[in-house]
Amino acid sequence: MDISKLKGIGKVRVEALQKAGYTDSDQLLYRFPKEYVDYDLRTPVGKLHSGQKAVFLARIKKTSMARFKGRIVTYATVFDETGEIVCVWFNQPYRAKQLEIGDTLLFSGLITRNKGKIEAMSPKTLPRDTHGIQPVYAPLCDIPGKTYASLVEQAYQNAGDLHDPLPEDLLQRFSLPSYAGALYAVHFPDSPEQLALALKRLSFEDMLLFRIVMRRMHESAGLGRALKANMTVIQPFIDSLPFKLTGAQSRVLNQCLSDMESDTPMARLVEGDVGCGKTVIAFALLYCAFENGCQGAMMAPTEVLAQQHYAEAKKLLEPLGVKVVRLIGAVKGKERKETLAALADGSADVVIGTHALITESVDYKHLGLIVTDEQHRFGVRQRTALERKGKTAPHTLVMSATPIPRTMALVLYGDMEVSVVDELPPGRKPVTTRVVPEDKRKGMYSFIGAAVAQGQQVYVVCPLVEESEVFDAMSATQTCLDMQKALPNTRIELLHGKMKSEEKDRILEDFAAHKSDILVSTTVIEVGVNVPNATIMVIEDAERFGLAQLHQLRGRVGRGDQQSWCFLMADPSERMRTMCSTNDGFVIAQKDLELRGPGDVMGVRQSGMADEHLIALAGDPVLMEEVGLACDRIFADPDSKESRRLIDYARTEMDKRGLIVARN
Ligand code: ADP
Ligand code: MG
Repeated sequence: MDISKLKGIGKVRVEALQKAGYTDSDQLLYRFPKEYVDYDLRTPVGKLHSGQKAVFLARIKKTSMARFKGRIVTYATVFDETGEIVCVWFNQPYRAKQLEIGDTLLFSGLITRNKGKIEAMSPKTLPRDTHGIQPVYAPLCDIPGKTYASLVEQAYQNAGDLHDPLPEDLLQRFSLPSYAGALYAVHFPDSPEQLALALKRLSFEDMLLFRIVMRRMHESAGLGRALKANMTVIQPFIDSLPFKLTGAQSRVLNQCLSDMESDTPMARLVEGDVGCGKTVIAFALLYCAFENGCQGAMMAPTEVLAQQHYAEAKKLLEPLGVKVVRLIGAVKGKERKETLAALADGSADVVIGTHALITESVDYKHLGLIVTDEQHRFGVRQRTALERKGKTAPHTLVMSATPIPRTMALVLYGDMEVSVVDELPPGRKPVTTRVVPEDKRKGMYSFIGAAVAQGQQVYVVCPLVEESEVFDAMSATQTCLDMQKALPNTRIELLHGKMKSEEKDRILEDFAAHKSDILVSTTVIEVGVNVPNATIMVIEDAERFGLAQLHQLRGRVGRGDQQSWCFLMADPSERMRTMCSTNDGFVIAQKDLELRGPGDVMGVRQSGMADEHLIALAGDPVLMEEVGLACDRIFADPDSKESRRLIDYARTEMDKRGLIVARN
């Protein structure tokens, strides 16, 4: 059905949808809910905890309104027989009128912590007899989620042939519902069980298609350039380092070098805990490419990290005659033109950058090696797109900071070889982690004060509040003010997402140069900097983070030779205890999988879209094994009609979604 035939949206929105590429109503069906709310899964108010997305039934006790920086804030205190909680809404003045004291309503939203007390952040309110499981759609082209749901309903009723790409016998063998059935259940689930099965079916399909394409690509990969790659070639670089490589670094480096000696392009994933020294391995390989007359590109997930790698690469590589350039947002105009020209004519040897490396038309004279410093922020999409830039297939190295459980690595990286850097540089003292409940905050502040007086530095990280960037900035500002009050003689700087990138850079540089003592920051990624003098990491509202994320953050301290600390602001819980009891990223990643489900481990929601969809159930070992079996079955007889059809379909489908870009 043509999108313009949908009822319930006006011309303006139809046009907006068309502009966004939606022309056929079927397309709406492939856009899955961002999450689900089960209105039958209700939490007693007394059991609500920060970080939880909760549904609770409560009675309104009192309401009030206030102004904060020109914004209207509405409060409602609500309760049940187990306790009470304050609900907060920003800029929704109509709320107050809807809330009748004495009414009992169903609330649904995120529970956060503010000054030690938990709050419900902008919860939805519903009639108390609301039941069932409901999909929540992210808004699209200003169409609110609710309206979107009604469009999906119309789309389904008018859907074309929902042809099942998977052969019947495969479905039967793995007890999976049909495609049409699964699609229906994803949008209109009757029960959590039915939904789970539908998601399993769709993930199964995605992962299978992905595995098929990876397998095909691997079998038909273009030839790369065999390099002269061994320790002797890179000796000048190794000799110039201010430290000796660890055993693990040497081992992994040798593995990579021998990969690069072959004309089958290297495809290696290097995993290793934060701080284990992966960057230097990458630099050594970039140097090796240089010695072979090849260019190398290194892609970092954020501007700040790219900048840091750039500075480090300049320091380590330029004295050896390597011309290092950067391609990040700050490089503009004439400088940018020159950089691009230098890459095209081969006068630049190594480029460090962000997404710009792939999103822009960057031409290389002879790209021989691509390093992706992944930190879990890239999808498969970007990686393969960059790989395409080489004329012969370049060698590729992916570095991942948080250890990825084996099953997940297989999905994300297909047939890549995996190396693990399982040793930290010598002299590192393990970071001591403590859970700090709110009533111990004062004590922690004096501890921090003493450390700062001794010349040490401190990170404070506040969680993102997804609903509102403004609120993020507010909560970080508040944290900053509180700290300043408690520690009047310290230099505190604030960093948040609403700042301009030049300002962010300045603040980070100042912190690195010890011109400030405490850095309060709202976002997780911005703290990717390396400041060995920072010895304390405070994580506000720690329950809001995934364990893997907490581990990443904690890895920002403990980089010098001083004893370092990580303070988790939270009430004791199994998750927090895990953090205190181990510094082993693999153990933590595994625990995270168990406790939260795979979607969260990867720092994405179980949203079901594109790359994320692929990842969503990747941690389920049983499912992964089934996918592997199915894939083997197909390749056992790759020339059969059925297999050929599925392999072709996998290619077109993955291409369409931008997941795979064939190399040649
Ligand atoms: P990550 O693996 O998290 O990317 P980095 O590469 O940023 O870790 O390394 C962390 C710090 O350890 C850097 O300051 C780096 O210079 C230092 N480092 C790396 N290898 C060694 C080593 N063998 N001995 C001493 N310090 C090292
Ligand atoms: Mg790193």
